[in-house]
Amino acid sequence: MHAVSRVMMCLSGLVLVGLVSGCGAPPAPAPAKGTAQAPAAATPPANDPAGEIAEAIGKLSAEDQVLAKAQGFCAVSEEPLGSMGPPVKLMLNDQPVFVCCEGCNNRAKSNPDATVAKAGKLKDRVNSQTKSRRPGE
Ligand SMILES: [Zn+2]
Repeated sequence: MHAVSRVMMCLSGLVLVGLVSGCGAPPAPAPAKGTAQAPAAATPPANDPAGEIAEAIGKLSAEDQVLAKAQGFCAVSEEPLGSMGPPVKLMLNDQPVFVCCEGCNNRAKSNPDATVAKAGKLKDRVNSQTKSRRPGE
């Protein structure tokens, strides 16, 4: 009788120690690290400006994508095309010109000559930066 109760005391003591150390132990960092790394590789980075611009320009037609990339920047604000969402295409003096948003669209139309001239300068600038690969030659 006496011996049995000693065993019971001992067992319940072990269970208590096991519960306390189980609750008090800090969470293992390994699983959290694994779940944090997995989606970074699988999903496109949302806070990467270059990725956002590529995505916005990707919404244009294939022909317009070539034109927008050749111009590179808004003909009014000189913001990178795609940084404000899909670029806005407009025809000024029979030439396709891209601006970054509707607000720039209105300003471009109010001064088409200056806007076309600026778009030409932007194209030259982009072209000189990507001299190594010129599809026109
Ligand atoms: Zn704009």
